[in-house]
Amino acid sequence: MLKPTEHRSASLLGILALVLVVSTSGAASAQSAAATKAPPLPTVVVLATGGTIAGAAGSDVQAAYKSGQVGVEQLLAAVPQAKKLAVLRGEQVSNIGSQDMNDEVWLKLAKRVNELTAQSDVAGVVITHGTDTIEETAYFLNLVVKSRKPVVLTAAMRPSTALSADGPLNFFNAVAVAANKDAAGRGVLVVANDWIHGAASLTKTSTTAVQTFLSPLSGLIGTVAYGTVEFYRGPVGRHTADSEFSLTGVTQLPRVDIIMAYENMDGALIDAAVAAGAKGIIIAGVGNGNLTDIAVKTLAKHAKNGIVCVRSSRVTTGQVGRNVEVNDDSLGFVASLGLNPQKARVLLRLALLRTTDVKTIQRYFDEY
Ligand code: ASP
Repeated sequence: MLKPTEHRSASLLGILALVLVVSTSGAASAQSAAATKAPPLPTVVVLATGGTIAGAAGSDVQAAYKSGQVGVEQLLAAVPQAKKLAVLRGEQVSNIGSQDMNDEVWLKLAKRVNELTAQSDVAGVVITHGTDTIEETAYFLNLVVKSRKPVVLTAAMRPSTALSADGPLNFFNAVAVAANKDAAGRGVLVVANDWIHGAASLTKTSTTAVQTFLSPLSGLIGTVAYGTVEFYRGPVGRHTADSEFSLTGVTQLPRVDIIMAYENMDGALIDAAVAAGAKGIIIAGVGNGNLTDIAVKTLAKHAKNGIVCVRSSRVTTGQVGRNVEVNDDSLGFVASLGLNPQKARVLLRLALLRTTDVKTIQRYFDEY
C-alpha cells in the first residue's frame, strides 16, 4: 500500500515521465525532420604525403623537428571539426619531408587523384604535403589531373606538436574548400593561412614564417576563414581537364636540371648537367632571365644539339620576357614568362614527353 504522500509523488513522477516522453518524442521527431532536410555531406578523400603538417618535435617550443611522423588517421583524429564539413576518408601515399619528394611518389599520387576524382561518390581530394616543394607538386597535378573536381593541397610551417601549430586550421580550411562546389574548375588549389592560391601562381617566400605563401605576380584565387570560403576569380593558365598533358603509359619523367646564374658564371655547370643526362635546362637567371656571355654561349651550343633551354629568373616575382636582353629567337631558347624556375622545370619535363620543338614548348609556357 502507498501512503498519501507516496501517492502524490508517484503521480508527480507519472506526470514527469509523460512530459519526458512527450518532449523526447518531440525532440526525436524534430531531429528526424532535420535529418531528412539536411543534405548529405560530400565525401572528401585525404591523401597524406608527409611534411611538417605531419611532423613532430621533442617539445612545443623547439625549432628542430622531423617531418612525416604522424599518420593520416592521427591527422584526421586531430581535427574532428572537419567531420562536420565532409565525410572524410584517409589514405597514406607516403610519409616524407617534401624535400624528399620524388617522381615515384608524384606518379603514384597523380594516378590516385585521377582514380578518386573519377569516382562519382567522391566530391573532392585534399592532399597534405610539406611546404618546401608543395608548389611543384601542386603545379604538376594541375597539369596532369583530368578532372574539374576540387583538388586542394595544404601544409603547415609548424609541426603538429608545436605551440600555435598551423596545421589543424589549414587542414580544416582545405576540407572546406574541397567540399565547396564553387571550387570546381579552378584547377589544383593550395590552402594555407586563410588564403587560396592557384597552383601556377603560388610560391614559398619565407623559410620560417607562417605567412610564407604568396602569389606575387597574379594574386589570390580566394580566401577561407574558419571554413567560410570566398572565391574572387579563376586561376592563371590552362589546367586539369583542359590540359593536353597526360601520364597515360608514363613510367619515367625526363631529366631537367635548374642552374642558378651568378656573378662570374662560366659554362661548367651547364656542361655538367648535359653530361649527367639532362634533356632540358632551366636557368634561374639574374634579373629578366639574364646570364653571363660565356654561359649564354654554352647554353646556345646545347640548344643547337636539341637540349631545350629555358630562361627563368632567380628573382621572386616578374615576367621573363622573350628577346629582352637575350635574343631567344636566334639562340633557340624558351622564355619562362610567369613561371619561376621550379615550376618551369615541371612544365618542361611534361613538355619533353611530347616534343623537343622549341616553338611548341614556348606555346606551352604561354598557355599554362
Ligand atoms: N621540410 C618540410 C617539408 O617540406 C617543411 C614543411 O613542411 O614546412 O616537408
